Amino acid sequence: MKTLRLLLGDQLNTNHTWFNEVHDDVLYCLFEMRQETDYAAHHIQKVAGFFAAMRNFAGELSERGHRVAYLTLDHPDNAQTLEGNLNLFISKSGIGRFEYQLPDEWRLDLQLRDFCEKSPIESQAFDTEHFMAGRYELRDFFGEKNYLMESFYRHIRRRYGILMEEGRPVTGQWNYDVENRKKMPKGHVPPQPLVFDHDLSHIVEMIEKQDVATIGTIDPKHFIWPVSRRESLDLLAFFVENCLPRFGDFQDAMSPAFWSLYHARLSFSMNTKMISPLEVVQRAVQERERRKDEITIAQIEGFVRQIIGWREYMRGIYWAKMPEFAQLNFFGHERKLPEWFWNGRTKMACLRHAIGQSLHYAYAHHIQRLMVTGNFALLAGIHPDEVDAWYLGIYMDAIEWVEITNTRGMSQFADGGITGTKPYCSSANYMDKMSHYCEGCFYDKKKRTGQRACPFNSLYWHFYDRHRDKLEKNPRIGMMYRTWDKMDGEDRVTILVQAEEYLKNVELL
Ligand code: FAD
Ligand code: SF4
Repeated sequence: MKTLRLLLGDQLNTNHTWFNEVHDDVLYCLFEMRQETDYAAHHIQKVAGFFAAMRNFAGELSERGHRVAYLTLDHPDNAQTLEGNLNLFISKSGIGRFEYQLPDEWRLDLQLRDFCEKSPIESQAFDTEHFMAGRYELRDFFGEKNYLMESFYRHIRRRYGILMEEGRPVTGQWNYDVENRKKMPKGHVPPQPLVFDHDLSHIVEMIEKQDVATIGTIDPKHFIWPVSRRESLDLLAFFVENCLPRFGDFQDAMSPAFWSLYHARLSFSMNTKMISPLEVVQRAVQERERRKDEITIAQIEGFVRQIIGWREYMRGIYWAKMPEFAQLNFFGHERKLPEWFWNGRTKMACLRHAIGQSLHYAYAHHIQRLMVTGNFALLAGIHPDEVDAWYLGIYMDAIEWVEITNTRGMSQFADGGITGTKPYCSSANYMDKMSHYCEGCFYDKKKRTGQRACPFNSLYWHFYDRHRDKLEKNPRIGMMYRTWDKMDGEDRVTILVQAEEYLKNVELL
C-alpha cells in the first residue's frame, strides 16, 4: 500500500526517524500554499525564506533517494489548501495511507484531525522529534498550580543533565539573570553578524506575480538568512565562537547602531526544525567546556535558559491554553495599532529603530520586541488582536505557538498572568538604562509633561492608573501605586492629561 507523508513548512527535520530508510512506496509531499501565505500579512523575507528552505529540504530528500512531490505556489495543480492538495495526491497517486507529523499550530492540528476524520483512508500522526518536552508536559507538570518558567526550566535541565553535576547545577546556582543586564558601553562594537548571500529573485518574483500581500523589504539577490541545515549549523558555529562569550552580559542591551548585537539569530533555523534545540544547547555547552576562561557560567546559563527555559515553556503554555488563549484580553484594550508600526515613521527614536530594523531584516531581538514595541502597545492600550497580527507577520521566526504566547502573554499581559507574574512595562528610565536610544531622540527622556516630554513617561502612569482595580493587589506591583499616590495631586492630573493628549494624537507621535 502506498503511503503519503506530509511535511509542513516548519517540519524540515532531516534527522527525523522517518528518513532513516528509503521506502519506494512512501511519497513525501511539501506544498507552498495560499492558506499559509494569506493567514497574516507576512514579511516578504519570511515567505521567501520559508519557501527557499522547503525547496532545499525537498531537494535534499530526493538526493537521499526518497520520493518527493513538491507543489510551488504557482503550480497549476496547486489547490492552495491542505485538504485540496492532499486529496489531489491521494486520488492521483493511488495512496492508501496518510501520515503526518504533529503540527505546532492549533489551527493546522485541527485542520489535519478534521481531514483524517473525513478521509476514507487510514491515517497516523507522528511526533516531530524536535522539542525537549512533550506537547502537554507543562500542563501535566503544573496541574492546577500557577505556571512558573523557572520550575519548568529546572525540570528540563535536570532531565537532560544540562549544566548539571550529580543532580545539582554545576556551580550550585541555577540562575544568573542579575548578572545579565548590562548596557553596552559607548564605543563598544559587537561582532559583525554572519549573514548569507542567496539569490532568491525567482522566489520573490513568483510571490509578487501571485499577488501575495506582504510587508517589509527584501534584497532578493542577497538574502541573508540560513535556508538549510548546513547553513544553520554554520550560524550556530559562528554564534558559539563569536557571540556566546558576551551573550549573557548584553542580552538585554539595545543600540541604535547595531541590529543583532550578541544574539544568535537561530530562531528561524530552530522554528523550521532545520536544527534542534538540544543540539544548539549541547554545542554551546561544549564550547563553554573548551573555553571556560572566556565563557563564564553567566553567559552560558543565560543562553541555555532562553532555549530550555523560555522556548519550551512557551510551547507548553500554547498547548495547555489554546484555543481560548487567542481570545484573552485581560485589560479590555481596544485601540488600533498606529499606522507607523507598518512604516517606522515616528519621532520616537526607540520605536523608529526597532520597527525600522524589523521591516528591514524581519528581525528584532527579544528586548526590542518586549520593551520597545510591546511596551508601547501595552501602555497605549492596543487591542491584543492587532498586536498579535503585527508580530505574527513581521518576524522571520513568527509561528503562532511561540508568537502568541510571547505577545498576548508575556508582552501584553492579556492572559492576566498565565505566562508571567506581572506586566512588562517601563517608562523612559528603563530604555535609557539599557540603550543609547534616548540620546538622539526628538523627545526628552527626563520630562513627563510639557513640550517634547517622552510619551513613555506619562503613558506609563496612565496605564497603572487606568488599571488600578486589576493590578493593585498584585504583590509585585503594589509599590508602584504607593509611589503614584505619594505624588502631588496636581502633578498626577497633569501627567494623565498629557497621556490622554498623546493617546488622542497617537498617529503623530
Ligand atoms: P537569542 O536572544 O539569541 O536567544 C536564543 C534562542 O532562545 C532564540 O533563538 C529562541 O529560540 C529562544 N528564545 C529566547 N527568548 C525566547 C522566548 N521568549 N520565547 C521563546 N523562545 C525564546 N520568538 C520566536 O521564535 N518567534 C516569535 O514569533 C516570537 N515572537 C515574540 C514576540 C514578542 C512580543 C516577544 C517579547 C518575544 C518573541 N519571541 C519570539 C521570543 C524572542 O524574542 C525570539 O525568539 C528571539 O528574539 C529570536 O532571536 P535570536 O535567535 O537571536 O534569540
Ligand atoms: Fe524612546 Fe522616550 Fe527615549 Fe525617545 S526619549 S528614545 S521615545 S524612551
